[in-house]
Amino acid sequence: MKTNLSVKERMSIERVKMPEQDPQQRARNFEEVNLGLTEAQAIQEAQRCLNCKSKPCVAGCPVRVRIPEFITAVARGDLPEAARILLADNTLPAVCGRVCPQEEQCEVECVLGKNGKPVAVGYLERFVADWAMENPDKLEVTPLPKSSGKTVAVVGCGPAGITMASELARKGHGVTVFEALHATGGVLRYGIPEFRLPKRIVDAEVERLREMGVTIECNVIIGKTITLPELQEQFDAVFIGNGAGLPMMLGIPGENLKGVYSANEYLTRVNLMAAWREDSATPIMRGKNVAVFGGGNTAMDAVRTGYRLGAERSLIVYRRSEAEMPARVEEIHHAKEEGIEFVLLTSPLEIIGDEGGWVKGIRCQKMELGEPDASGRRRPIAIEGETYEIEVDVVVNAIGTEANPLLTATAPNLELNKWGNIVADEQGATSMDGVFAGGDIVRGGATVILAMGDGKVGAEAIDSYLGRN
Ligand code: FAD
Repeated sequence: MKTNLSVKERMSIERVKMPEQDPQQRARNFEEVNLGLTEAQAIQEAQRCLNCKSKPCVAGCPVRVRIPEFITAVARGDLPEAARILLADNTLPAVCGRVCPQEEQCEVECVLGKNGKPVAVGYLERFVADWAMENPDKLEVTPLPKSSGKTVAVVGCGPAGITMASELARKGHGVTVFEALHATGGVLRYGIPEFRLPKRIVDAEVERLREMGVTIECNVIIGKTITLPELQEQFDAVFIGNGAGLPMMLGIPGENLKGVYSANEYLTRVNLMAAWREDSATPIMRGKNVAVFGGGNTAMDAVRTGYRLGAERSLIVYRRSEAEMPARVEEIHHAKEEGIEFVLLTSPLEIIGDEGGWVKGIRCQKMELGEPDASGRRRPIAIEGETYEIEVDVVVNAIGTEANPLLTATAPNLELNKWGNIVADEQGATSMDGVFAGGDIVRGGATVILAMGDGKVGAEAIDSYLGRN
């Protein structure tokens, strides 16, 4: 294969298409939608990279993966070197290659995107990470440094906590991760469905933590089993990465009817407790017509899950238009291909029940768009007199989540903002000495890579704190 391509030759290569399961088939199964690139496809895609001196893609990545370096290694066919670079910079590359909104981060900065399509950084990341998982014997093992003798407690085994634990272990500190659930991964496990992120990928990436000597204790709820001040006494520093998993509801009539779920409950039943399997001990209502309120990734996951559970119609009900939807572009595209219906510019007013207290429909308000609001998205405005009903038997509320007060209630000295999120500075330091925080508990619902970025930056800050104390 020719490796010394000219810029013109590189620019003439078409962006690779991700091989996918057929939309009609996959819409009824829980297997992964994207199938991954072949080695030949990955090498060809990597050859599109111009290896720019200014590396704008790296600046677009919150964990600062050395993107041109690992892609150049792929272009040469040197996969061990590509994996070495990627794994050194990113604790969860196989996860990020599947779920990061690359179109808003690394890929949006790609120079090729100015007049054409950006390099498929996410697809290449996934390719290299999967190759590394399948070829552990070909990877260079980096020895861990001598123990520093310092210990850190990490609360929550989601992307923020996992990244923090891995970065601290690489610096020689003793790390114990406390996780409330019986399984690791946070939203990666209980929120994002198997058809987007197989759980074997989460298992394999978390396993690397254990190999680094990190202790993971599941079924420990900080705030109930142990309090934050108690943790402070037992460890030299604490990092809080407990996410923002408390569902928000709309506050409309009918939310207590049977057949109404928060997206968290609905997805947790299916993903964590395997309710999609006929032999699962955890039940789930398999609706004929499922309505999901919201337009983010959570809403897309829930509506596609509803269809996979056998619904005849599975609907997104969203008060703005598609242009304002926060979900990843790929998820919206996949959902449409699978037959998901988008009921846009529509706001639910009421969930209607039958005499037995079961959901039988929703009453909706037609909306139009006005001027942009504080979020920069155009504000939805009700069109007077335009209401109508849709027949549904399951409703899933996916309008967002907020901070869970379980932990913070036991730590009166921890400063919170008006939404209950922990206040932390840019390095993750909180109002309590030696206590750091990051991820969704600080930002509100954000993204995997932003949570990981907080873990990485916070680890540097904790390392310097431990050096001083
Ligand atoms: P979490 O992932 O929420 O992890 C926090 C962990 O802390 C959990 O395991 C929780 O059980 C544990 N915990 C909570 N309280 C305690 C306690 N008191 N004691 C001990 N442990 C505790 N982002 C993307 O970038 N791309 C996507 O495609 C995407 N899709 C999403 C789909 C869904 C359904 C959802 C809900 C979110 C999605 N997100 C996506 C957002 C992303 O998953 C989150 O921003 C990210 O997981 C936040 O990471 P975190 O580590 O801060 O928190």
